[in-house]
Amino acid sequence: MKNLRMDLFTDFKCIGSKCPYTCCKGWSVFIDKEAAEYYKKVEGELGEKLKKSIKYEGEKISFIMDKNDRCPFLNDDNLCDIYINLGPENMCNICREFPRISHQYGDIYFLTVYQDCPEVAKMLIEKKEPIKFQFAESDKIKADIKEDIDWKKFNNYIDAFVTVEDIVSNQSISIQNRIKLVILFSKQFDELQDDSSNEIQQMLEFFGNEENYKQIIPDLEKIEYLPNKDILFFRQVVEIPMLREDAKHCREFFSDEGISRYKNDIKNNEESASKLHNLQEKLLQVILFKYFMEGFNIDDFKKVFFEGMILYKVYEYSFKNIYFDTGDVFNEERIIERIAKIGRILEHTVDEKKEKRNYKIILEKLKENGIYEYDILLEIT
Ligand code: SF4
Repeated sequence: MKNLRMDLFTDFKCIGSKCPYTCCKGWSVFIDKEAAEYYKKVEGELGEKLKKSIKYEGEKISFIMDKNDRCPFLNDDNLCDIYINLGPENMCNICREFPRISHQYGDIYFLTVYQDCPEVAKMLIEKKEPIKFQFAESDKIKADIKEDIDWKKFNNYIDAFVTVEDIVSNQSISIQNRIKLVILFSKQFDELQDDSSNEIQQMLEFFGNEENYKQIIPDLEKIEYLPNKDILFFRQVVEIPMLREDAKHCREFFSDEGISRYKNDIKNNEESASKLHNLQEKLLQVILFKYFMEGFNIDDFKKVFFEGMILYKVYEYSFKNIYFDTGDVFNEERIIERIAKIGRILEHTVDEKKEKRNYKIILEKLKENGIYEYDILLEIT
């Protein structure tokens, strides 16, 4: 079977009990059905604890975190009691794989890593070359291929992802312009993806050529930044209580004085600015791959790259907040901490009252406020 693999998937190594955040606290750990069924049959003291420590909410099955928001099976040495007593093969999928994630769609296995792990965040910072995505064949991976796949749509979607990643990794263009190009590309892709004419092919060919998309950059640069819309967007993000600490300095980073101070410091601190831009590139690559996979997951390819860009925007707010907090354009320790935490807070934590993941809540708020729009994202980039 074919696989599309991110190079970090192969290079990643977990640091286990030395990890400051561990994957077992501060978010919802979801359990797959197969593992939940197995846990029901475990006997003895551990079996009793498993029965008491799992909650069932419709389709969602998860561990009940303790009062310190830790998984009840994470012991005092930060090791997993399920792993120790039942073996790695009996851990639920997410615990066995995280932060490596694999999904099969069509005739391809997609293999990636999530940035919600601090070791992955470090790899993103240390990696200088763009992340590489490679297609390969593997006899070891076998899977059933569903027959009801719209292969034309499927292949267009793969081509769209390859195009997006080519743009993001084009280091001859400033990171801001790459972001704008991705937003513009995604907008046009969404408008055409249900079209049966071959316009989508022409559009993919156009953006597949660097000379073509570079010609659009002067027009993208003319788009005026609209701070009022940025503030409105930001307000929806920090409605999530766990993200309020990223709003500590928001008055400064939306003020004229703050904007010009940040820009000047970026200009005058070449080394830090280069680290920041390098990280922005890698973060975008990882997020866009994740959302690309999500398109298959929900069987809907509309707005997937757009929603990935919204998540990326949340990270940008956080990096700015760190700058105004520390005066440091690239405070590595703080940045790693926020990279690992923001993904957990948004994508893997359920708001108990609303019974929704925090990220879904933000998307709904953006829609309610009329700012879930490509053009607006361009105006606040
Ligand atoms: S967060 Fe990453 S480094 Fe830490 S325990 Fe989990 S996989 Fe290992």
